[in-house]
Amino acid sequence: MELYKLTAHELIKKLKNKETSAQEILSSLTIRIKEIDSKVNGYVRRSKENMDSPLVRSENDSHSGTVPISVKDNICTEGLNTECCSKILGGFNPPYDATVIKKLKEAGMPIFGLKTNMDEFAFGSSTENSSFGPTHNPWNLECVPGGSSGGSAAVVSADEAIWALGSDTGGSIRQPAAFCGVVGLKPTYGRVSRYGLIAFASSLDQIGPITKDVEDCALLMNIISGYDPNDSTSSDTDVPDYAKALVNDVKGIKIGIPKEYFVQGLDPEVKSIIEEAINKLKTLGASSKEVSLPHTQYAVPVYYIIATAEASSNLARFDGVQYGFRSGGLTLIEMYKKTRQEGFGEEAKRRIILGAFSLSHGYYDAYYLRALKVRTLIKQDFDAVFKDFDCIITPTSPTAAFKIGEKVADPLKMYLSDIYTISVNLAGLPAVSIPCGFTKKGLPVGLQILAKPFNEEMLFRVAHTYEENSEWHKMKPKV
Ligand code: GLN
Repeated sequence: MELYKLTAHELIKKLKNKETSAQEILSSLTIRIKEIDSKVNGYVRRSKENMDSPLVRSENDSHSGTVPISVKDNICTEGLNTECCSKILGGFNPPYDATVIKKLKEAGMPIFGLKTNMDEFAFGSSTENSSFGPTHNPWNLECVPGGSSGGSAAVVSADEAIWALGSDTGGSIRQPAAFCGVVGLKPTYGRVSRYGLIAFASSLDQIGPITKDVEDCALLMNIISGYDPNDSTSSDTDVPDYAKALVNDVKGIKIGIPKEYFVQGLDPEVKSIIEEAINKLKTLGASSKEVSLPHTQYAVPVYYIIATAEASSNLARFDGVQYGFRSGGLTLIEMYKKTRQEGFGEEAKRRIILGAFSLSHGYYDAYYLRALKVRTLIKQDFDAVFKDFDCIITPTSPTAAFKIGEKVADPLKMYLSDIYTISVNLAGLPAVSIPCGFTKKGLPVGLQILAKPFNEEMLFRVAHTYEENSEWHKMKPKV
């Protein structure tokens, strides 16, 4: 039995019945990684030893009795390098664990000793902006896995990980999950602590699960959710048992279908796959109706003003003094300049410049403040729809995975790949992407389900029902 192929809940059951051991799971994964990761590049290679012996880190030995989890390179893991796949954080070994890592260890889930590949500082939609080279989509190695959590999505999809954590600022969990044919959930803002997540845009970032099925997603959310005194934006609303929301029943559920999402730019093949999925939910007892989110067209520009403004401020701390890489220089200022010049990649520099510009005197009111106002309007659009509907369904991305290199030269084109995921972060909502079909070229398509803040249970209910009545999540890439 190839253990690496199983889901976490299947392995947990086997462990309980003493049909396998933590050691066997780890060995099975290690063999799989050695076999295929040179093709996928889903894990970060910091050294040869690092690839050869992916140790598992856990609080103590009694905790290593369960299923290891793979973690994106921007979530701090004590004693294990965390570099955001950026040269400027090269060699950064955090002295502490992020709260999610602490919670996982306390729950007995060991941390896999290899971090997953990502776009530098989570800037991107394709995992091409990584100092460790691009990750390849297991369904077609010439295609991107999506991003920025492309490494996490690819390793789960290719069975090189049992489950994984990603982060989502504008779609970075859901879009790669869609491109790789796995489940990815962006929790409500404040549901999961951001303490120890290296910040991109603090008012948008959330950590969340990338898994092989909806049940694993709920199990992982049960572990990582909850209030954290170390994160002043985490919420102390009760965390329900998400496993209880895994019911096979959507009778009476009212689905809103935003008309602004089904317009030009949406690949007709993706469109018909999504419509089929909605019809499936209807045959299972849900109802659907067209709704309007009138400020949708402003989401991408508003996001790129707010996200880059916050990023330029968050990245100011990387100056060669406190963390990772330092370049030379005769004076302090020269050292700062050279470190940042050599340490940041192209996309990071682009965003720092853009963000610093919109925050600067004379432009702040015209750009940043204005964007904040439109953000409120976008949120109000959702509030209005959720008065009458239980959830909203959209495609996760307007297209399936694109070719590596296809959009790197055109940042604006790249930014548009997040057109369906960004509003969720601006409004602080929870949303999940689940597999719902394949294009004729054999690339996965994701269905995005959105709910009211702190109603992840609705996502689990609808997603689980769909999954129970479809086979898409069982398909595996032939890598
Ligand atoms: N692709 C979006 C961006 O480039 C979102 C990234 C993310 O969610 N981290 O900003």
